[in-house]
Amino acid sequence: MKIYKAAIIGLGPSGLAVNKILYGDSSNEVIAFDNEDINKRDNYFGFWLTDWMKPFENIIEKKWYRWTIGNKNINIIHNSIDKPYCVISFKKWKNFCLETKNKLEIKNKKVAKYFPIKNFFKVITDDNTEYYAEKIYDSRSTKEKKGELLQHFYGINITVPDNTFNKNELTLMYFTGEKNLLHFMYILPFSHNKALVESTVFSKDIFNNSWYREKIYKYLNEKNIIEFKETGEEKGIIPMFMAAEKNSSSPNVFNIGIRGGACKPSTGYAFSFLIKQIQLLKYSKKNSVNIHKFLERKMDKIFINFLKNNNEDGQSFIKLASNLNGNEFQSFMMGDSNLLTKFKIIKSMPKIPFIKELFK
Ligand SMILES: Cc1cc2nc3c(=O)[nH]c(=O)nc-3n(C[C@H](O)[C@H](O)[C@H](O)COP(=O)(O)OP(=O)(O)OC[C@H]3O[C@@H](n4cnc5c(N)ncnc54)[C@H](O)[C@@H]3O)c2cc1C
Repeated sequence: MKIYKAAIIGLGPSGLAVNKILYGDSSNEVIAFDNEDINKRDNYFGFWLTDWMKPFENIIEKKWYRWTIGNKNINIIHNSIDKPYCVISFKKWKNFCLETKNKLEIKNKKVAKYFPIKNFFKVITDDNTEYYAEKIYDSRSTKEKKGELLQHFYGINITVPDNTFNKNELTLMYFTGEKNLLHFMYILPFSHNKALVESTVFSKDIFNNSWYREKIYKYLNEKNIIEFKETGEEKGIIPMFMAAEKNSSSPNVFNIGIRGGACKPSTGYAFSFLIKQIQLLKYSKKNSVNIHKFLERKMDKIFINFLKNNNEDGQSFIKLASNLNGNEFQSFMMGDSNLLTKFKIIKSMPKIPFIKELFK
């Protein structure tokens, strides 16, 4: 009976990070399961270049030192010289994380259950095969929950005639002012003629692809981008609630990624946080680590409750962006803001609804 050093359940970005960061330099034998074909997945993960992301600088697809937040009436421009907005593609992350010294066996199978026997675990896949491992890294997560807010989005990669986009400026949030719905466009201009154009919604229910497509076409039309060729698409749902599962009582079971609480629910950013989580786990003796600080978590909760209970059209984000400079804004998004920035954030928020949420 073969006992692997570790079993990774799910080879999304966090499962891949476990292979690279925790086992990449060892000669251990690791097994990983994913019920999907990970070679078919590709999308871009955005983040600001925090210190913990610097080791991955050479796989960054593109950096933007300037980003905008606004609507048809206002355009806030943020700059940051040392903390640019960056993207890494899933494909690059996957290839980087699979290039290791350890021996990784990947099974395209669904894990049905696992449980401890003696001092290791038995993992059973849905074809009833049994595998054994000393440690479990579990990244299966609940992305939707009735009555809870979700960030859902659909984007297309397009090629357009020359010099259509300003490749140095990223549109982080362009609020379109939908009635009773928080909707914005997110544009990643990779070059003067290539971009990802994404329609994003914060709401409790998700929509059909055609809904987002309509918004994308409308936006492109407004920007006079009539001629374009589609080269790909990405879509997703990110929980805007605390999606972390309870920590396991077994010290050798690790909840990772969104399942391990990596997502910052108020923004949907998770990629850089799940990497931070695995980096912290490397030096921790526990099976869980605190990725988001107490005050950040508290502020996130208040903000999400505010979004849930109020018809927000983007004005709060625009006000927040206008009261902060680029560095302060990125520190808020990356959960690393200092007290002065926190004070500015609180000051930017609509007072009465926020005070109500604070005392709930
Ligand atoms: C299209 C898209 C774009 C995103 N963009 C950004 C971004 O720009 N910035 C950012 O910070 N975050 C972004 N996110 C959010 C977040 O970073 C991702 O959701 C990320 O994939 C979370 O990684 P994870 O490893 O926690 O989970 P997942 O990526 O969901 O990986 C879990 C894996 O487990 C597999 N699995 C599930 N159940 C089983 C089972 N029973 N047996 C075996 N395998 C199983 C799944 O197939 C999946 O591959 C994005 C998300 C999506 C979907």
